[in-house]
Amino acid sequence: MKELVEKIRKIFSDEKLELLIGYTKGTLPLRSTPGLIESADEADKLIFDFTCCNNLAKYLVDEKKRSGNTHRIGIIAKGCDARAVVQLVMEGQFERENVVIIGVPCKGVIDPSKLRKKLNGKEIIKFKVNRDKITLFGKNFELELNKNELFSDSCLSCRYPNAVQYDYFIGEPSEPLGVRDEYASVDEFEQKLPEKRWTYFEKEYSRCIRCYACRNACPMCYCEECFVDRSTPQWIGKGNDLSDTIIFHIVRVLHTAGRCVDCGACAAACPLNIDIRMLGKRIEKEVIERFGFTPGLDFETEPAMATFKENDKEEFIM
Ligand code: SF4
Ligand code: SF4
Ligand code: SF4
Repeated sequence: MKELVEKIRKIFSDEKLELLIGYTKGTLPLRSTPGLIESADEADKLIFDFTCCNNLAKYLVDEKKRSGNTHRIGIIAKGCDARAVVQLVMEGQFERENVVIIGVPCKGVIDPSKLRKKLNGKEIIKFKVNRDKITLFGKNFELELNKNELFSDSCLSCRYPNAVQYDYFIGEPSEPLGVRDEYASVDEFEQKLPEKRWTYFEKEYSRCIRCYACRNACPMCYCEECFVDRSTPQWIGKGNDLSDTIIFHIVRVLHTAGRCVDCGACAAACPLNIDIRMLGKRIEKEVIERFGFTPGLDFETEPAMATFKENDKEEFIM
């Protein structure tokens, strides 16, 4: 942590940053919170560890909009944050020159929804980490877990734990956790009969309360006015009709097609632990197979949805 703080302090001054987006300690055990620092002196507030599950590119979009796209902003970037920043630059959301990407090696982050499930309503007072084990202490309980049991599904199959594009890199690059085959659950799900798949989605999405926390956490959701909030025309109802909820999820996944960097921030934000990753991974697989495109890897390749090739598959056109 000391290395991170000292290097950030120097980068802040050398690069004449007006703002730096990083993580600071949260108010609850095992939680961090995105933190904005406005001077090099504030660098000692910063942390980076396995609790840092937000995708900070989300805050970069917001800050760029707020500052009229002129401020020189630094951002601490895990592999998935850096990919989101690259994708956002490729989508013209801000100029590359005004962003300083400070890459950090990521060893996986906790998914708060998995933690909630393990705790089953109990509160942690403190925790202890010993290599791959984490022990949670609360009132009248102690629970030892393997860290992998709490890590986000995105992390368990992440291919890019280190920032792929950066101006500075702090620390030694991490190896991917490599715990799971990236598309195993999608492949397994696809083997099910269509009615079983539909039943699964109906059951999952009927629990959704449309709080839109998943949308709000996503760096790729930056429309000035989301279609779900529009009243003229009103695209979907505001009540709890399941068909409206399903439309929200289908449109969200289509809007993030070829753009989602599988950071898991949406799943981590969901208060009801709804499986919102399955559809996204299915679409990601489709985009790779059809267009050979993985979002956010470099500043040269045109995003799949922003270009076309003569040999693109077009069998869906009647
Ligand atoms: S998806 Fe990869 S880079 Fe992102 S938090 Fe997980 S391990 Fe880190
Ligand atoms: S965060 Fe969860 S409950 Fe809220 S809208 Fe998204 S899926 Fe539904
Ligand atoms: S859809 Fe979810 S996983 Fe994909 S970029 Fe947005 S927050 Fe990350």
